[in-house]
Amino acid sequence: MLDLGSRESIYQPTQEGLTFPVRPTFETPAEERQYLKERLVGACRAFALQGFDYGFAGHLTIRDPEHPELYWTNPMAVHFRQVKMSNLILVDHRGHVVEGTHAVNQAGFVLHGAVHEDHPDIVAMCHAHTTYGTAYASLKRPLPPITQDACAFFEDHVVIEDEAGQVAVETRAGGSVSAAFKGVKAAIHQNHGLLTASRHSIESAAFWFIALERCCQQQLAIDASGHAPTLVSPDRARYSREHVGSDYIGWLHFQPIWDDLVRTQPDMFD
Ligand SMILES: [Zn+2]
Repeated sequence: MLDLGSRESIYQPTQEGLTFPVRPTFETPAEERQYLKERLVGACRAFALQGFDYGFAGHLTIRDPEHPELYWTNPMAVHFRQVKMSNLILVDHRGHVVEGTHAVNQAGFVLHGAVHEDHPDIVAMCHAHTTYGTAYASLKRPLPPITQDACAFFEDHVVIEDEAGQVAVETRAGGSVSAAFKGVKAAIHQNHGLLTASRHSIESAAFWFIALERCCQQQLAIDASGHAPTLVSPDRARYSREHVGSDYIGWLHFQPIWDDLVRTQPDMFD
């Protein structure tokens, strides 16, 4: 019988010797920084492929491995498809750019800076103004467990009602979002959009963001149908979340996206 108690073993029981993604280990912080920045660029490119751009809105962040009080993010007013290694910026919790030539998105540092500062365990975060997630955010209700995929968010996301609809350039808004991110991987900010955070990797935060947007699209389609869906029972939803909703599984889901980007968008590394 499969050992379902170990989150990392569910997809690799007795598959030794076969090709399977493995997260590398690093000799130096510089090596790890290079890896993390490349994956941050990859996450931005993945967002572009999903059509998540909306003008200059949207920001993705990773904590620096050597200086945890600093984080890397995408540059202000650069399309997700044009983000690359050379235009990433390093920012502190107050929103000062300490490395790089581009400006920072002010709303980005207000939200992400507060979360990174208040939650030392959170290493990556994603936010964008997506079509379905933003629409769903107006409903002020959590995402019900309508599918196995949606179960990944069961009791693992919150709806933030504070500062709803007010543009998040005040540090007060950062406090509301930060307080909501206690022990969950995602938040639906009413009248604003989706946010995800990861205690593991930017790949995980990015994949769960893509998944959450997709779940919101599916939920809105069900709502529009006028039919009541059959929900997964709470016990089963919890079990599914534990086994297919972890940070590791999010990281694993991102690997085919990353491999495709490496082959099709080599300018990521410029
Ligand atoms: Zn926003």
